[in-house]
Amino acid sequence: MAGCSVKHNTFTQTPHRLLLQQPVATPNPTLAVPAQFQGKIIYRIQPRNNEKVIALTIDDGPWPKTTLQMLRILQENHVKATFFLVGQALKQHPEIAKQEVAQGHAIGNHTWHHWYRQMDEATVKNEIERTTDLIYQITKVKTFLFRPPGGFLNNGLAAYAKSHNYTVIMWSLTSADTDRHAKPQAFVNNVLKGAKPGAIILMHDGGGDRQRTVQALPEIISKLKQQGYRFVTIPELLQMKAKG
Ligand SMILES: [Zn+2]
Repeated sequence: MAGCSVKHNTFTQTPHRLLLQQPVATPNPTLAVPAQFQGKIIYRIQPRNNEKVIALTIDDGPWPKTTLQMLRILQENHVKATFFLVGQALKQHPEIAKQEVAQGHAIGNHTWHHWYRQMDEATVKNEIERTTDLIYQITKVKTFLFRPPGGFLNNGLAAYAKSHNYTVIMWSLTSADTDRHAKPQAFVNNVLKGAKPGAIILMHDGGGDRQRTVQALPEIISKLKQQGYRFVTIPELLQMKAKG
């Protein structure tokens, strides 16, 4: 034992310093929600000086294949997005969520079952906290971003989230990519038509076949960039407003 200890001390200090800097112990500042937004419902942020920032939000995953395809597209284009995760999908595909975080995307809570119906308090609590807990276990991200399934604000979920310091993130612009009959170009057009500084864009990587969303994503990104938009995560968007 003594020999081992002495030998260890002869190494440089570097391994110890690295150990102390493990990110697990340090909250990621890019995911922090400013206090002024806790317990609030956000649809859009009006950026200072009308700066052309915009946020992509991607719901209902992690999903095999489509989430990974979207992650690749986002990475190739140096775009950061915000993924709202469904607990039961996360349980099936934890590695995909880890990859989202590793690539610098923000993640939020989209409940465990993605139910729309009215729920009693115990069910609501379980839907939200079980998902937050699993997100933390898998990614080490403690999220305070909540998006209610279907955008329903009156079934108990949003009330619970608000009273427990989550920020309820709605959207101001939908790609309408859940329309089963629309072509990918329609999703692109929907986004371009409504793009505004500070807009929060809704799209989906899971909950069904999202191949058309994958097809639309590169053009959504390139056209918005051509218009001068810069992509930010939801925490970044909120932090900009807090500073402004
Ligand atoms: Zn959803």
